[in-house]
Amino acid sequence: MKQSECLGVNEQGHLTIGGCDTVELAKEYGTPLYVLDESGVRAACTSYRQSIERFYQGKGMVCYASKAFCCKEICRIMDSEQMGLDVVSEGELYTALQAGFPPERICFHGNNKTDHELRYALESNIGLFIVDNVYELERLNSFAHEMGKKAAISFRIKPGVDAHTHEFIRTGQIDSKFGVALETGEAMQIVKEALKLENVILKGVHCHIGSQIFELEPFELAAQRMIEFMAQVKEETGYTIEQLDLGGGFGICYTEKDAALRYDSYMEKVSVVVKESCERLHFPQPFMMLEPGRSIVGSSGITLYTAGAIKEIPDIRTYAAIDGGMTDNPRYALYQSEYEAIVANKADQPKTMVVTLAGKCCESGDLLGENMPIQPVTSGDIVAVLSTGAYNYSMASNYNRLCRPAVVMVKDGACRVIVKRESLQDLVRNDL
Ligand SMILES: *Cc1c(COP(=O)(O)O)cnc(C)c1O
Repeated sequence: MKQSECLGVNEQGHLTIGGCDTVELAKEYGTPLYVLDESGVRAACTSYRQSIERFYQGKGMVCYASKAFCCKEICRIMDSEQMGLDVVSEGELYTALQAGFPPERICFHGNNKTDHELRYALESNIGLFIVDNVYELERLNSFAHEMGKKAAISFRIKPGVDAHTHEFIRTGQIDSKFGVALETGEAMQIVKEALKLENVILKGVHCHIGSQIFELEPFELAAQRMIEFMAQVKEETGYTIEQLDLGGGFGICYTEKDAALRYDSYMEKVSVVVKESCERLHFPQPFMMLEPGRSIVGSSGITLYTAGAIKEIPDIRTYAAIDGGMTDNPRYALYQSEYEAIVANKADQPKTMVVTLAGKCCESGDLLGENMPIQPVTSGDIVAVLSTGAYNYSMASNYNRLCRPAVVMVKDGACRVIVKRESLQDLVRNDL
């Protein structure tokens, strides 16, 4: 799903998303405003789901990594799309349960789950715990014992594949706060430990090798190593691990420099490696799980702002300030992520200007991008920043006591608020 598939330009020269005029949306709901196209989100779910049906004979499940964008309506949409749901905290689990998401399709991740979180998830009868370490394994087993339950578990494994270095550096992966390593024997050890425990049932192994990845080779190599490990477990213990979860991390287009792959090409390629490895090692083909986050919601979201002060510093740069910033999108401040910007009320005009898009927070680093080509922007214009559906609302803060924006869902020309704008009362709600 490319950004452009939900965006358009209407007769007034205004940017549209999901058939709605963004200038009208800004007028009706105010700015800053997150806008999410429902059809785009659903199409991404369908694409992943169908890839498992087509290339892996339907033996698998796609779990949406809810940290990318978590609110009740997104959980409801994921439920209606027959997706599973990854959560990494009590808060994400609570949101999913409040939305009526079926607990049996919830997977609980995280490298440091608290006692309280483990008990809460056990009480809620979630489907799977992705156990990170021995400390968690032992506590989960004893809490499950206290409650008279058996917890289905999977292990977070470091397969020794580092997608971001373009080389598969071993030490790079061992040095991660997540999971247990293959190379050191730690993974085999924890598996053997789990097989001795009464109140956990080992279902699967899991790996997640990074995010915003555009190459398929690291996924293929990870799949191969994981199958080899599963076969080795069978050989050493006689136990067959049934599920293989290959995580998320599929890249999306933020600017035209990014060349995103079709989401179904992931399963197409990886299933070949899985099938071949299983045949070679005489191991049964596992139930396959995928966990896309960014690629489910990222391209279908935009943020609308109102341009304020435009500050031209001769021979240096032009700052265009907007009425949001790192509070609603911290990704540029965190890791210089690049975005594309459009003047929504001049979307039919060429991008003849270059600006640094600045937020309104008291930080020099509060920028949404530097040297961004854009239509000639003046104070009062509506500025749209594209592909903000993932890791924007979910990473938003109240720094400088700014209120978090509302989220509006659009579909086929209709719009509805799915998250209300925070109010000043919300800001002082917990102050004593
Ligand atoms: C973050 C995360 C994902 C989703 O990653 P994306 O890059 O958003 O697709 C999936 N699985 C795990 C364990 C994660 O931590």
